[in-house]
Amino acid sequence: MQLIHPDDREKVGSIINEAYQTKQSFEFEHRIVLPNKKIRILHGKGKVISDEAGNVKAMLGTSQDITERKKADQALHRSDERFRAVSAATSDVVYDIDLQTNTMWFNDALNTEYNYPQRRTLYTPDWRLNHIHADDRERVKASIEALLDRQDKTWVSEYRFRLHDGTYIDIRDRAFVLRDTDRKPIRIIGSMLDISQQKELERAKDKFISLVSHQLRTPLTSMRLLTEMLSSGYAEELTVSQHDYVQKIESSTVRMIHLVNEILGVSSIETGRLNVRPTETDVCALIQTQIDEITPLAEQRVKITYTPDETARTVTVDPTLFSQIVHNLLTNAVRYTLRDGATIHVSFQKVREEYILTVQDHGIGIPMEAQPHIFNGFYRANNAIKARGDGTGLGLYLIRLILDMTGGKIWFKSQEGEGSTFYVSLPSCGMMNNQMNKAIIQKTQA
Ligand code: ADP
Repeated sequence: MQLIHPDDREKVGSIINEAYQTKQSFEFEHRIVLPNKKIRILHGKGKVISDEAGNVKAMLGTSQDITERKKADQALHRSDERFRAVSAATSDVVYDIDLQTNTMWFNDALNTEYNYPQRRTLYTPDWRLNHIHADDRERVKASIEALLDRQDKTWVSEYRFRLHDGTYIDIRDRAFVLRDTDRKPIRIIGSMLDISQQKELERAKDKFISLVSHQLRTPLTSMRLLTEMLSSGYAEELTVSQHDYVQKIESSTVRMIHLVNEILGVSSIETGRLNVRPTETDVCALIQTQIDEITPLAEQRVKITYTPDETARTVTVDPTLFSQIVHNLLTNAVRYTLRDGATIHVSFQKVREEYILTVQDHGIGIPMEAQPHIFNGFYRANNAIKARGDGTGLGLYLIRLILDMTGGKIWFKSQEGEGSTFYVSLPSCGMMNNQMNKAIIQKTQA
């Protein structure tokens, strides 16, 4: 009794007293104060032993230290309260899926924002899935299944979701998975953000860009043709300075055509209008064609070496997209190599479960501070701008978009002044088509 916290003594005394009177078993929690003044919480349990005449002979009991469990319970309770408070404060729809009971809890936003009735019974993951647009449903389902199979914690997906009035909105869904000690998934907690406005703006922007680019193409093509005719003396012989001016107009026109084509390429991928058509392809021949095409640009300044690897000759790729990748990497390697006589090495090999394309140059390299940005659209490093005024900053971005869509990856190693090596990997099945990859791509957005 001495150890019992002074505030709990009365309570403990009366419970034991009552048990003595009623001869019932008893159970209670109380605090004790240790000699070092630390407080612990104990859980006590006991029963009363009486003889045949009903006289109490003894009281038996056990005490268990439950301080740590109590602390954990309180922390859980606090974090649960915080979760509910955040859920109530946001207009995003927040959900909590219990994978053991297969039920799904939503915050009030499901009612206030999407107009669904607040039900007494819980919603289910299937209910949510059935309200996803039919064209997106299989993809989302597959990516959730893949998420649960993998050991990933986070997941992001975009899909169209049906509101109570039957209309659809664009959603960005971010979730994380809680797993038990055996790594088995037990809960998925996430939020559904309405991104319809953002999507609408993106669609308008893409439409505008593609319309303008298409409109620019026709006059540019005729400008190119006409300047070519002028400079070849088709109309009249030109003076040397006239010829010089016309050639400058011609090269600017070619550059603009190139820019418009790259913008169109990017916008068709970004809007998902591009179809990937993987077929069995002689990849070595494709690479060789690209090298042959680029050789005049290299103007015998640089040498390109490539030895086809027979074990990686036939691969399932989209020939146009694959050629575009090789073309962009090769042009960069040639354009950013200023030293005469330098060599560019190209290889395409099967390395374990992947195909790896490598383009290595000994050119100007990429400055350290520029390295994190070079796959962003329109980004160009300072040394590249100085060396070549005519870049668009879209070539690598385009490669990245193609690979994101087809299940590949791109990375590089580079040192300023030493050169760069770009690597592209494709899965062993080659390039995937949009549908196959869409399900898997969720992991990267995650
Ligand atoms: P562009 O070459 O038209 O500027 P890219 O998207 O192809 O656009 O490349 C983006 C930037 O990455 C370049 O401006 C340059 O700074 C850098 N870069 C790409 N390839 C190389 C390379 N082989 N050597 C040095 N810098 C490179």
